[in-house]
Amino acid sequence: MYRSHSCGELRATDINKEITLSGWVQKTRDKGFMIWVDLRDRYGITQLIFDEQRTPKEVVEKAKNLGREFVIQVTGTVIERESKNKNIPTGEIEILVSEFNILNEALVPPFTIEDETDGGEDIRMKYRYLDIRRNPVKNSLMFRHQVAMKVRNYLSKEDFVEVETPYLIKSTPEGARDFVVPSRMNEGQFYALPQSPQTFKQLLMVGGMDKYFQIVKCFRDEDLRADRQPEFTQIDCEMAFVEQEDILTIFEGLTRHLLKEIKNVEIADFPRMTYAEAMKTYGNDKPDIRFGMKFGELNSVAQHKDFKVFNDAELVVGIAVPGGASYTRKEIDKLIDWVRRPQVGALGMVYVKCNEDGTFKSSVDKFYDQEDLANWAKTTGANAGDLICVLSGQINKVRAQLSALRMELAERLGLRNPEEFAPLWVVDFPLLEWDEDTERYHAMHHPFTSPKPEDIALLDSKPGDVRANAYDLVLNGNEIGGGSIRIHDKETQALMFDHLGFTPEEAKAQFGFLMDAFQYGAPPHGGIAFGFDRLVAILGGQETIRDYIAFPKNNSGRDVMIDAPANIDQEQLKELNIKLDL
Ligand code: ASP
Repeated sequence: MYRSHSCGELRATDINKEITLSGWVQKTRDKGFMIWVDLRDRYGITQLIFDEQRTPKEVVEKAKNLGREFVIQVTGTVIERESKNKNIPTGEIEILVSEFNILNEALVPPFTIEDETDGGEDIRMKYRYLDIRRNPVKNSLMFRHQVAMKVRNYLSKEDFVEVETPYLIKSTPEGARDFVVPSRMNEGQFYALPQSPQTFKQLLMVGGMDKYFQIVKCFRDEDLRADRQPEFTQIDCEMAFVEQEDILTIFEGLTRHLLKEIKNVEIADFPRMTYAEAMKTYGNDKPDIRFGMKFGELNSVAQHKDFKVFNDAELVVGIAVPGGASYTRKEIDKLIDWVRRPQVGALGMVYVKCNEDGTFKSSVDKFYDQEDLANWAKTTGANAGDLICVLSGQINKVRAQLSALRMELAERLGLRNPEEFAPLWVVDFPLLEWDEDTERYHAMHHPFTSPKPEDIALLDSKPGDVRANAYDLVLNGNEIGGGSIRIHDKETQALMFDHLGFTPEEAKAQFGFLMDAFQYGAPPHGGIAFGFDRLVAILGGQETIRDYIAFPKNNSGRDVMIDAPANIDQEQLKELNIKLDL
């Protein structure tokens, strides 16, 4: 028996017990006649004492050679500790060791295995198994497990069944690139790793499985952005015989449940907003609604004077920054530099100070009088003491720019309180999205999303105006889930592929299996998927999803621990009949 107890278990009530513990040597303190060792395992730390008076001499001698991270097994008696440590649950006792074994020695670790480590990100990634011994990482993984359990329990209670779907599938166009896997037995052919189990979960609905869920790995070969992983986890769900409302209700329930159980937060209000409204009011389809600074569109009150920049703009739009009238010239210049950074891309910024005495001072006083500026203040909701920031230009661009500024200012003003949770459904997404590069429409969500029946007539004349039964769940400015009601008949699906530029042959080759299935009694269905890594990170209060993934990839998509991706040997390539021309 390696242990009778864990290192986090023993208390004053266990005093005098004979016990056995196993774990890692966190730290030793050698006073010559007495040695203390902190022994650590997943459950905590217990102090060991080797005392020349009370411990056999050879045991004390052996203990002198213990190094950090040695794995040992000790047997001894639980005794009361003289100087108690109130900070840890085992702090009232220590183990008077009578014998011990070294189960394994350890090299000196390349960084300290403590809450505050001296190891940088790279070295910790390379030795992730050592990093996992540290409380912050260990606790994050345990937290992730807790969230997964709560999700599983909630959905099981709601009658959902977890079904596994395959990882070796066929390439499907879902927006990103597929990772592909060569097939040895089918020369020249490739599997693709799923970007999501989308078509399979729909086929499960045709199969009558009704409420399906799966906590599942998905793979997308996208250009890596900060905090994106090429493989990530979704809570993937699908239901049959449902309308949008049914889905929103169930997953609002799941979100409330998680926030209550994990954060002890009761969500009073679960607002909804259309995509069009979100874009108009926040310039963004995933607005953080914990704070105001709503957009005020100023075209009607700013385009009647000689200010050419505004007159030429498709949209003139502003936000009121609370307390911003006190910003110095220098501070405002810095803000202007900020919006002009290439990442934001504005050409400039007009500002208006709303003075405490009710007057206005703007950077365009030459063109606008006090009455004009009072109108701007009214439209942006600015009060005395605020600063109005105004951007102008092409509608989509200027909205994105002002949205970036709004988020930045909210961050600086401390308005993004991590302890406050404000979920929001964004509904009625456009079905199609124009892609400048390929000069054609793409499915905004995916090609299986159903158009709103009342908008189908617009598919030919104004494809960009067709709305979908598609929805996103947003939490504090993060998209945490998204889904849609699906097409479930062959004709509509064929029509959709046609509008996406597929020939009937291409559609059949790629999605024949789905369209065939739709001919065998497909029920109306719809679903949603949550980004599990992000959800866990938000609930856990950490910035990055990496903290919650046991073995994450770095920003270049590499696993630096196992050194992947890597070359494969000639034999393997030959077997796969792949010739590299590098
Ligand atoms: N498969 C979709 C996605 O990964 C989610 C859904 O429509 O259910 O975004």
